[in-house]
Amino acid sequence: MAVIYDRVALIGLGLIAGSMSLAMRRDGLAKEVVGFARSAETRATAREIGLVDKVCDTLAEAVEGADLVVLAVPVGAMEAVAEEMAPFLKPGATVSDVGSVKGAVIAAVGPHIPGGVDFIPAHPLAGTEHSGPRSGFAELFENRWTILVPNDAAPDAVAKLRALWDGMGANVDEMDADHHDLVLAVTSHTPHLIAYTMVGVADDLRRVTDSEVIKYSAAGFRDFTRIAASDPTMWRDVFLNNKDATLEILGRFTEELFALQRAIRTGDGDHLHAYFTRTRAIRRGIIEAGQDTAAPNFGRASEKKS
Ligand code: NAP
Repeated sequence: MAVIYDRVALIGLGLIAGSMSLAMRRDGLAKEVVGFARSAETRATAREIGLVDKVCDTLAEAVEGADLVVLAVPVGAMEAVAEEMAPFLKPGATVSDVGSVKGAVIAAVGPHIPGGVDFIPAHPLAGTEHSGPRSGFAELFENRWTILVPNDAAPDAVAKLRALWDGMGANVDEMDADHHDLVLAVTSHTPHLIAYTMVGVADDLRRVTDSEVIKYSAAGFRDFTRIAASDPTMWRDVFLNNKDATLEILGRFTEELFALQRAIRTGDGDHLHAYFTRTRAIRRGIIEAGQDTAAPNFGRASEKKS
């Protein structure tokens, strides 16, 4: 595949940045991929496993001369990183991010981006419950959607970023930030909150039933525990920064839950059956769209951080 950028700088070296680096280097999408992480420990691991072509010891060193800079840190950390790196950005460069929330990231990062630099927020809808520099794998984005929020960025800069994500195997779409945040509140953020809650409830119960919660976890609960193992820092930042949309969807969820609760209490089997028939059809639609398989975790070790 053709080289799209000469030098790409990845800021943060966790699951998403690591997967981007492995995919870009596998397919020759950039001449050079450099990276920076805040902790010496992560930088040392990245060097040891050859995660990027070069691990930089400072943010400035990583950003200088880069044609594309991708912020791959938790949403709540993006503003400070953007402010610190701004003076070192190359004129004509593109800055992007991979944050799970778009409105708050645009508000936090946008004001720090100097004139002559394009800011094109992005969000790959791909991930696992693992995090850290050892958790990435090149196939993470294959047949997954990446959403770009181009705002008023130059069309040729948007086309290049599109080509990069396309080259990494993703399907690329564009939408505005508010729409993104609402869609993700429905499809990802609220489901994660429900999983965290369910696992918390079961953990409370476990104190009563001892190990039964784990022993009999095959039916449904195991999937909740996988989701609820996702990185606490990342998800704290998602909820704090997508507050309105998440609260809106949680409100609707609570209403539906009460309706189902009432149907159970009153023995309204027709209501339950009709509801489950509708939701089953949604699942079939997801399978038909080819979005049903969980992202494979090609055996990479998890490196949890809080
Ligand atoms: P990750 O594996 O936990 O890696 C996060 C990286 O950010 C690490 O290199 C960490 O550095 C660095 N970092 C953390 N806090 C920082 C701070 N305060 N200042 C500077 N650097 C900091 O995370 P990830 O899963 O790749 O997520 C990165 C971004 O992608 C997040 O914005 C997340 O919302 C988004 N995203 C995640 C997923 C997913 O499923 N995981 C999917 C789509 C998008 P150290 O290791 O040195 O601490």
